[in-house]
Amino acid sequence: MEDFIHDQFTHVPERISGLVDLAYNLWWSWNPEAQVLFKQVNREAWKESIHNPVRMLREIPIAFLKEAAENPAYLRRYDVIMRRFTKYMNATGTWFSAEYPNHRSLTIAYFSAEYGLHHSLPIYAGGLGFLAGDHLKEASDLGLPMVAVGFMYSQGYLRQVINHEGWQLDINEPLDPDAAPVTRVLDSAGEHLVVQVPHIDPPIYVAVWKVQVGRVPLYLLDTNIDCNEPQNRGISSRLYTGDLEQRLRQEIVLGIGGRKVLHVLGADYSAVHLNEGHPAFALLERIRERVVERGMEFDEALEQVRATSVFTTHTPVPAGHDIFPYDLIDRYFKAYYPALGIDRDEFLQLGVHPQNPEAGFNMTAFALRASGHHNAVSRVHGTVTRQMWRCLWPGTPETMVPIDHVTNGIHLPTWLNHRMKDLYDRHIGPTCPNWVSEHDDPSIWELIDEIPDAELWYVHTWLKAKLFNRIREQERIKWAAQRPGRVLDPATGGAYLNPDALTIGFARRFSTYKRAHLIFEDPERLKRILNNRWYPVQIIFAGKAHPADNEGKQLLQRIYRYTQQPEFGGRIAFVEDYGEKVAQYLVHGVDVWLNNPLPPMEASGTSGMKAALNGVLNLSILDGWWVEGYNGRNGWAFGSETAARNGRDPIDAAAIYNLLEKEVVPLYYDRSVGNIPHGWVKMMKESIKSNAPRFSARRMVKEYVAKYYPLLLRAADAEYARIMAVSKPPAPAWEPRVPGEAEEGSE
Ligand SMILES: *Cc1c(COP(=O)(O)O)cnc(C)c1O
Repeated sequence: MEDFIHDQFTHVPERISGLVDLAYNLWWSWNPEAQVLFKQVNREAWKESIHNPVRMLREIPIAFLKEAAENPAYLRRYDVIMRRFTKYMNATGTWFSAEYPNHRSLTIAYFSAEYGLHHSLPIYAGGLGFLAGDHLKEASDLGLPMVAVGFMYSQGYLRQVINHEGWQLDINEPLDPDAAPVTRVLDSAGEHLVVQVPHIDPPIYVAVWKVQVGRVPLYLLDTNIDCNEPQNRGISSRLYTGDLEQRLRQEIVLGIGGRKVLHVLGADYSAVHLNEGHPAFALLERIRERVVERGMEFDEALEQVRATSVFTTHTPVPAGHDIFPYDLIDRYFKAYYPALGIDRDEFLQLGVHPQNPEAGFNMTAFALRASGHHNAVSRVHGTVTRQMWRCLWPGTPETMVPIDHVTNGIHLPTWLNHRMKDLYDRHIGPTCPNWVSEHDDPSIWELIDEIPDAELWYVHTWLKAKLFNRIREQERIKWAAQRPGRVLDPATGGAYLNPDALTIGFARRFSTYKRAHLIFEDPERLKRILNNRWYPVQIIFAGKAHPADNEGKQLLQRIYRYTQQPEFGGRIAFVEDYGEKVAQYLVHGVDVWLNNPLPPMEASGTSGMKAALNGVLNLSILDGWWVEGYNGRNGWAFGSETAARNGRDPIDAAAIYNLLEKEVVPLYYDRSVGNIPHGWVKMMKESIKSNAPRFSARRMVKEYVAKYYPLLLRAADAEYARIMAVSKPPAPAWEPRVPGEAEEGSE
């Protein structure tokens, strides 16, 4: 860790000053033992910091730190964890270095508009961000040479508060960089590094921050600096603004600025991975560099960039893709066209959608043309995407359209609850001590059957109790703080929920296609299901609507009003402020995870994978990942793929009611002596076994490696060798390869 950070923490005793390094590396967030190290300094301070070590170390009374530094028991644990941390950071024998020994010095740059890493760093909106965050964590664990770029959103977090009318208020909570695991990147003069986005007029500057994600550095771009014109300062303030011009400026900063920042930092890379179309302009900048600095023709530069780029698309509907009117593009790229060695028309052709050329510059069309490798994020999404974009490959049969799929996955150490992990340790560990590092091997998971039903059920019940405790505590705090005359409805927040009742979780963004209202299609039937005297059912909702999405907010309000209707028996609750923290409680603690989007809109979905990993059963429509995950024994599925889009609500809702009445509820309440639902537990085991290895980020990242990364790196190698042969290039920032090594095969 840089000295200037330690200078801010001189109050931390020398003996335990490694806590500062640990706080600034998110490695701690997926290693429960490291979390315990902070917690054991002082439980209250840990809680008050909302599990944020940077904040805790800044605010904690010095006496507690001194106490820890003199406590032999604490120091023993400290030394062990710090040794593990150091070893991890210096690791040489990683999976990647063993599998691909020749590629160690070549780096892949990962670009994404958002990252969901931890709630102390609110630079995410939802699923796309968590996917990117999990990708980086797993790349770190596997030892992939990777560097990442994103945004430092100063207004990143909108805290959701629901007013008494059920309307979502978006409370701005500016990101405090002093209380987040980010550090300023400094220039040679010791000032905050500022970089100009090339060829954009009037000029835009970005300041650079750094987040350490295990071994992977993530650089965040920040336009909120004095040297920017006032109208440019807000470019990086919030995610996905609805203002088209601002959005274009964001994508210019992320792609072109991001590429430039890596260049300036010497964190140079050989290949790129674009997470969704937002950062696609990075490809332009890569082309421009080759044209300007190496004197290439545009076409040759494009070919090289294509050979070294993979683009992951996530959006299954045409309306979800960014399209910028041509006059907007002209406004910002006037100086850029000539720098690429092409004219305006040739440039605009790169972003034309063949079936709708008038609409403007389509970022996905551009990304597909300027990258040589493309993938969707689940098998069905692959089919949908090939159909949607076949027009870019005229004459090619749909099945041959070169868009493959890599199904998403989740980072196991992040999403597996530590109590559940202890249980797996106890029963998988004796046979397979390295099960965590080999968790993408399905055969290991057969050992789940060794767990006695009562033990698995006990841990699940404990996690459920944690969820209900958390919900009630939040309600208590809100109740105690309410203003006179504004009576809080205890049912809404979940105060009447019963920990013994079958509990369904529905937590996702309130976009209309996710159909949060679906289960209310036949309110009378739902009431009968929820209010069954002997076999009660309850539903916990959570989720935010995009601040500009009034339809989403209205939908949320509808759900909110249901929670207040006594006819539903106080068995429906809405938990405010869905984010990483609330998600962790829900995917660990409910019994059933409900998912019913309008097919084929769910490209993949990942929250159901998180649930499955922790023994929560999926009840989901056949869309996205569940088409691959469902095997007839590991949860429930409904929804025929052929149903017409319009008018399918009643059909899908009836399918849910039928499953609940005939299968889910009876199985849950079928108890033996000792109150154990053996049938249910059997299904939990089947769900863990079948889903955990396949839908892990480890399987996903290895698949990206197998399908793309070495290909990209080989192309980069070849390009580099060519440059070396032609001329002496400017000193590369990365280790130059020993001549001759480049010719060898990699595997
Ligand atoms: C996992 C996760 C998501 C994405 O889940 P979906 O299944 O794609 O809806 C969104 N938000 C949070 C907080 C998550 O943890």
